[in-house]
Amino acid sequence: MSNKLFKRTKILATVGPAVFAEGKIRELVYAGVNGFRLNFSHGSYEERDEQIRLIRKYAQERGKSVAILQDLQGPKIRLGEIQNNHMDLKAGDLIVLDYAMKEHDGSKTLPVQYNLAEKVKEGEPIFLFDGKIRTIVKRIVSATAIEVEVQNDGYIMSRKGINLPDTDLGGDIITPKDLADIEYGAGRDFDYVAMSFIQSAEDINKLRQILVSHGSTAKIIAKIETKKAVESDEVMEEIVKATDGIMIARGDMAIEAGAEVVPIVQRKLIALCRQHSKLCIVATQMMASMVENPEPTRAEVSDVATAVILGADVVMLSDETANGKYPVETVREMKKVILYTQDHTRIVALDSLPTGSFKNYDAIAYSAVKIAEEIKADLIAVATKTGATAQAIAAQRPNMPIVSVTSNPRVAGQLALIYANTAYVREYDDNYAFEVVQDLKADGYLKLPEGKENLKVVLVSGLRDVEGGTDSIQIRSI
Ligand code: PGA
Ligand code: MN
Repeated sequence: MSNKLFKRTKILATVGPAVFAEGKIRELVYAGVNGFRLNFSHGSYEERDEQIRLIRKYAQERGKSVAILQDLQGPKIRLGEIQNNHMDLKAGDLIVLDYAMKEHDGSKTLPVQYNLAEKVKEGEPIFLFDGKIRTIVKRIVSATAIEVEVQNDGYIMSRKGINLPDTDLGGDIITPKDLADIEYGAGRDFDYVAMSFIQSAEDINKLRQILVSHGSTAKIIAKIETKKAVESDEVMEEIVKATDGIMIARGDMAIEAGAEVVPIVQRKLIALCRQHSKLCIVATQMMASMVENPEPTRAEVSDVATAVILGADVVMLSDETANGKYPVETVREMKKVILYTQDHTRIVALDSLPTGSFKNYDAIAYSAVKIAEEIKADLIAVATKTGATAQAIAAQRPNMPIVSVTSNPRVAGQLALIYANTAYVREYDDNYAFEVVQDLKADGYLKLPEGKENLKVVLVSGLRDVEGGTDSIQIRSI
């Protein structure tokens, strides 16, 4: 096969202390990372600027587009500093969480970094320390404090996360920190902005307005991790329609909705994204044991393969690359699983066909994929102005690489995370998609099928470099 080298499911790696060095970023780009996540829950702007510089530098050196995703913290609520960084709790204990408290004095009144008194109601559950301690709200004590009853024995530590699975944040999820981070990001060339803990499609619309008002052209990734966001199939579909892409954020989702909910929600969300031609990222603990070990577990390999077979665009690494002992090895292992899986099985078919308004480019994309599979083409090449045609082709999940060519570097950066796409930037001319494939062949980057001299290419293009200009499908021998 000519396309063995191209992995169709993309890898998104989180930048953290383990890889924040010139050499490591470079190794990751060469090992097969297609995009980097910058987690705005940690780190300074100076560090960010340096990370962006390194990613762009090595992407260019490697000659491929690499996406950068800004991950906004959102209403990630945390405890404050706890005296001696430890407090034992017993079932039945009553504790107070007080936003106004400055310093913890060892008592059962604890500082918290968010005014819960404004949002929570009596009887609602509140989880502390990533779900390890479950509590129930007993009463609102003051304008800044609430009293909760502990449900199980355990302990807490400073700055541990708090989850509010049943609390309606009332569309108020973008924090002052997020706004500052958005402003910082608008001056950088981020390809994607991810928003944590969204509860509804409305939250996404708000973020879009804010991004537009800052002149940002980044696409939006909605992180699906609250109980509210996965409450029903209807809510999930509304969210998918409103966003440009989603991240199935399985870490917090398991805490808020229950771990047993996650695999089914994952299936539903991937299918919805494919139906609506939206980007889909599967995240969290995919290769978690490789934080400590040089090899993944069988279950982890199976988890990655499942995401590939279901047709996710992207599989993500968090701690594995940010804090792990084997970041580069993890990427190599993940790539091996993706390549083997894609070359030995088909992606599952969708139960229902794409819905909604079918644009011209959707129709052309649909037909181009049918033709390409029918004639067993080696690849699909597409000229794409906004990336929409390339993404519509990807939504059909063809069993071959998609070489996409655009005049807009931003579009190429965004396509780096889209299923099967390898994006190239060229100055526009009517024939540029054809020419790029010729060049790739001449450079030996596209290997010919055994015994063949030419590549069979389905070429999708338009005569003008305008949005919505896609109008033709050709079968070319290159
Ligand atoms: P996080 O999101 O790493 O920002 O928490 C992913 C998740 O919750 O799974
Ligand atoms: Mn999360």
